Parts: sequence; C-alpha cells; structure tokens
Amino acid sequence: MKKTVPKTCQEESLFFRYNYMMSKFFALIPAAGFGSRMENNLPKQYLPLAGRPMIYHALRTLCRSPGIASVFVVLAPGDSEWLRHEWSEFSGKLVVLNCGGATRAMSILNGLKAASDASSIGGDDWVLVHDAARPCLSEAQLDKLMNELADDAVGGLLAVPLTDTLKRSDVSSRVEYTESRKGLWQAQTPQMFRYKLLVDALSRPGSLTLTDDASAVEALGLHPKLVLSDARNLKITYPQDMILAELILRAQQGGYGECG
Ligand code: C5P
Repeated sequence: MKKTVPKTCQEESLFFRYNYMMSKFFALIPAAGFGSRMENNLPKQYLPLAGRPMIYHALRTLCRSPGIASVFVVLAPGDSEWLRHEWSEFSGKLVVLNCGGATRAMSILNGLKAASDASSIGGDDWVLVHDAARPCLSEAQLDKLMNELADDAVGGLLAVPLTDTLKRSDVSSRVEYTESRKGLWQAQTPQMFRYKLLVDALSRPGSLTLTDDASAVEALGLHPKLVLSDARNLKITYPQDMILAELILRAQQGGYGECG
C-alpha cells in the first residue's frame, strides 16, 4: 500500500507514530444517503461546494493524513454519480465499496464487513467514521482526535459543548421550559473506535436506526471520550449550510483554518 511521504518534522513524527504502532488507522465515509432536506435531486454528498463535489473535501483531508492507511467510501449500490467525477489523486488510499444500506448505521456495518474483505484491517485497528456531510474537517481537528484517542481503551469522537440556550417546546411550539445545557455536547464526526468493537456494537438489535456510532458503543455500557472540536466542523443539512461551509473551506485553503 502506498504511504503518504512526510514533508515536515511534525508530519515525520506522526508518520512514525501511526505507522509503527501496533494498531493501524482506517477511515470510513458512509456516503449512501440522499439528503432529502437539501431540496435537490442530486444526493447531498455530490452537491457542488467550493468547486468540487461535497465529499471531495472530507476525502482530501482523510487521504492526506499520514497516519491513515486506507479510506473506505460506502456508496449506495445503484450510485450513478461517483464515476462522473475524477478521484485519481486519492488512488493510493481510496477504496470504494458499493454496499450502502437503508440507514447510516447499516451503510457503516456493511462497509466495515466489506472493508475487512478488501484489506488487512484487524480487530484492534482503529476506524474513523466520518460523514460526507462534514466537508470542513481540518487536518488539525483530525490529528487532535487521533492523538488524544490513540491509547484510549474505548475510543471517542469530536464534539462541541453547547452554547445556545435550550428550550423544550409543547405541541404548539410554545416554550414549556428551559433545559439546562450544563454538560451537554454536540456530537460530530469523525467517531473513532476499534474495528471489532464497532462491528459488535452495530450488530446489536436496535443499533441500525441510531444516528451515530458512539450511541451504539454507549449501549454496550462503555463511555466514549469527547474530544473538543469547534463549530467549523459543521454538518450540512439544509441548503443555507452550504454558504457557511464554502466560507470555511475558502478560509482553510487560504491558511486560516487550523484549530488548536
Ligand atoms: O442524512 P445524514 O446527513 O444524517 O447522513 C449522514 C451520513 O450518512 C451522510 O454521509 C450520508 O450519505 C450517510 N448515509 C448513508 N446511508 C444511508 C443514510 C445516510 O451512508 N442510508
């Protein structure tokens, strides 16, 4: 497998750390959804964003990481859009799997099983699951997640403490009461767990309708670690999110996008 050659001292130390540790790192992008809230006939992951299909941006960040051995993309079986675009710059790392399922969790579980047939992924290797709909993940956020969790017993996820005041509504959209936001975080992706733990968690009854991987791991009685991220790693859900994402990507490309 072709490895990304490190260019700086920091990259060299990450390259050494990730490639010579016992567990390897893999990334998996579920991209078999449609994104009905985007009000567009084109599936969300292919909508044009900063001159590229949306999924390109997350792929680029993951494929450029010196620590990640392979990046699996899980497409819907009948996907006719993928081949309309050019992906050759990722050819050393990218593995395309046409086995998406009816829910995000099903796509991930199918993808994990197909990934083990397509590569040397082992039970203790780390898998970073990242949504195609989060195109603004930065290299710094990714490195932080991998560094903070590399020796963790459970794994975890990027997340942001809530800042808005939370209102609980009644059926007629009137405030019933104000919720405390103390201790509440918004979950993001990537979510990073060991291969076997993730397969076990997603294989349990009830897991296939969950909206994130950490919830499936929590259902095993485990406590994933929350790794502090920031709001720039936003999820695109509605058409207006595209404007913000485009601004963030342009700033990152101009060198202002790194987080501490
Ligand atoms: O729809 P939502 O934004 O929550 O989807 C999150 C991620 O899960 C997206 O990358 C989407 O393509 C993926 N997904 C999938 N298979 C599904 C539904 C969603 O891979 N059946």
